[in-house]
Amino acid sequence: MDAAAERKMQFLYQLRSKGVTDKAVLLAMEKIDRGPFVQGLFAERAYEDTPLPIACGQTISQPSVVGLMTQALKVTPRDKVLEVGTGSGYQAAILSCLARRVYTADRHRRLVHAARAIFAELDLVNITAFTADGSYGLKEQAPFDRILVTAAAEDPPGPLLAQLKIGGIMVVPVGQSDAVQSLIRVTRHERGFDYDELRPVRFVPLLEGLGDT
Ligand code: SAH
Repeated sequence: MDAAAERKMQFLYQLRSKGVTDKAVLLAMEKIDRGPFVQGLFAERAYEDTPLPIACGQTISQPSVVGLMTQALKVTPRDKVLEVGTGSGYQAAILSCLARRVYTADRHRRLVHAARAIFAELDLVNITAFTADGSYGLKEQAPFDRILVTAAAEDPPGPLLAQLKIGGIMVVPVGQSDAVQSLIRVTRHERGFDYDELRPVRFVPLLEGLGDT
C-alpha cells in the first residue's frame, strides 16, 4: 500500500473508533481530502484527528467531531442545508456530498474567498459561500431542512430556529466560549422544538458582525 492510501485508512480508522459509523458520512469523509483545507505550517498534520489553526485566528475542526456532527444532522440527499461558520470549508465540503444544496456563511471575507477557491478546484458545484453574520441565517434561502452551526453560541440563535423547516434538524454547540460546551440537536415540530444534548465539545465562539478581514 502506498503512503497516501495508508494515511487514508488510518484516518478512517480513527473516525470509526471515535463513533463515526454512518456509512454515507464515512464515504463522504473518504472522498473529501482534508489536505487542501489545511494550508501552510500545519499542512503535514492534515490527517491527524486534531483541530488545526487556519487564517483569521480560527480553526478547522477535529475530523471525528466533523463526522459526529454530520452524523447527528441526519442529512438526506434532498436537503437544503445551511452551515454557519465556513472556516476552512472542510465541513461544507463533506455536507455537499450528502445534501442537495449547501449554503455556508462566515464573518471573515478572507476565509470565504479561500473556501470558494477550494470548492471550485474540487468541482463542488452545490455549495454557495457567503460573507455574513450567520447568526441571522440566510433569509433569501430559508427555510432549511438542516442547519449546522460550527461556532459556539450561548443559546441557539432565534433567527436560525425560525429558518428551520417543520421536521428540520439543527445541530449547534451551546455554551460559554471559554468553557466546555454541549453539542445540542434541535428538532422542529409542528408545535415547537425538541432539544437533545449529544456530547461535550469545544468550539470558537459565534461572534457578532463581520470580521476585519
Ligand atoms: N466549519 C469550519 C470550522 C469553523 S471554525 C471548518 O470546517 O473548517 C468557526 C468559524 O465560525 C470561524 O471561521 C468563524 O469566523 C466563524 N464565525 C464565528 N461567528 C460567526 C458568525 N456570527 N457568522 C458567521 N461565521 C461566524
